[in-house]
Amino acid sequence: MNIQEANQYLTPNYARFPLTLVKGQGARLWDDAGKSYLDFVAGIAVNTLGHAHPAMVKTITEQASTMLHCSNLYFNPQQNELAKKLTELSGLSKAFFCNSGAEANEAAIKLARKFFYDQGKNKHHIITATQSFHGRTMQTIAATGQDKVKEGFAPLPAGFKHVPLNDITALASAINDDTAAIMLEPLQGEGGVNLANIEYLEAVRALCDKQNILLIFDEIQTGIGRCGSMFAFEKAGVKPDILTLAKGLGGGVPIGAMLATDNVATSLSAGSHGTTFGGNPMSCAVALTVLDVIAKDDLLANVETRSEQLKAGLQKLVNTYDIFDEVKGDGLLLGLSANINVAPIVNQCLENGLLILMAGPKVLRFLPALNISESEIEEGLQILNKSIEGLNL
Ligand SMILES: *Cc1c(COP(=O)(O)O)cnc(C)c1O
Repeated sequence: MNIQEANQYLTPNYARFPLTLVKGQGARLWDDAGKSYLDFVAGIAVNTLGHAHPAMVKTITEQASTMLHCSNLYFNPQQNELAKKLTELSGLSKAFFCNSGAEANEAAIKLARKFFYDQGKNKHHIITATQSFHGRTMQTIAATGQDKVKEGFAPLPAGFKHVPLNDITALASAINDDTAAIMLEPLQGEGGVNLANIEYLEAVRALCDKQNILLIFDEIQTGIGRCGSMFAFEKAGVKPDILTLAKGLGGGVPIGAMLATDNVATSLSAGSHGTTFGGNPMSCAVALTVLDVIAKDDLLANVETRSEQLKAGLQKLVNTYDIFDEVKGDGLLLGLSANINVAPIVNQCLENGLLILMAGPKVLRFLPALNISESEIEEGLQILNKSIEGLNL
């Protein structure tokens, strides 16, 4: 079926590239005409280990022939193990599993409100950052600090406020007796690759402690090694009360997770929340494999080295072209900001066999797999350079 025919059957909610992908191997993807692409998108920070990683193939094959699903009416060993592993890695105490990022944030929002409800307190407001992105469900578009995701969907759920990132004064004055939680991405992905300062995060933590407010970190894009530590919050040394994960956790298999401290998690009492598919043996087994390979292959170290290499290459572009302003981000969640619309660069790269994405109209975003090699980064930079030269910008 060609793209025109496909559009007869699909809702038009995605502005897709005119490209049909059929196969992947490592850092490479192939389209239906056999053309290959170097993948610096990784399914939007999802394909942590690249495509068709043998350890994942083995786990999926074995788990498929053992048990795919049994529901949360019962325990399953893979969910138990993954909960243990993620709580050990994060220093939080309890894990709830779902199937996507938005669902993980829904759980976090519900838990924050229920936590104060259980204490008889009327604290239900959540403060998030402008330019944040928290998902596409009704609650999570209300949480998102970007108007474009909300248009046409009123009435939105109430109880959300947005303040500029890295502005502690604005945050402090937005807090009142109703404030239940502050929800932040330590590094904003969709909103333009904007890093939260360490001093800001420290000050936010202190405010939360002082005013009895929960701190939620949305690490759906930054978590699972993407920024060079298992979780981005480790680099800041600021621990949240609730942490949400999804994208990179399953390496391509849909899974989301919400982790919380013991005290807070108590409020997610029996019957208060749930999902049919969440924590199924298949997705949990694959997530365990992803975490295993990250540790065995020392991928956090690779993220840091490849990040330096990619940053250096992008910095050269900033030095060479007036259209580029700065290199942003951390680890392998990097942005190159420009003073023009960068869509033509993305299209030219695609033409030349490199997949990259944007974070807003003026930022190029690079999210290769955590096991990307030195030569693949080099090759990506070469294609990027060639694409920009060809455009005569
Ligand atoms: C992608 C993303 C989400 C939403 O995840 P979905 O799986 O698409 O629901 C939420 N928060 C952040 C920071 C994200 O990057």
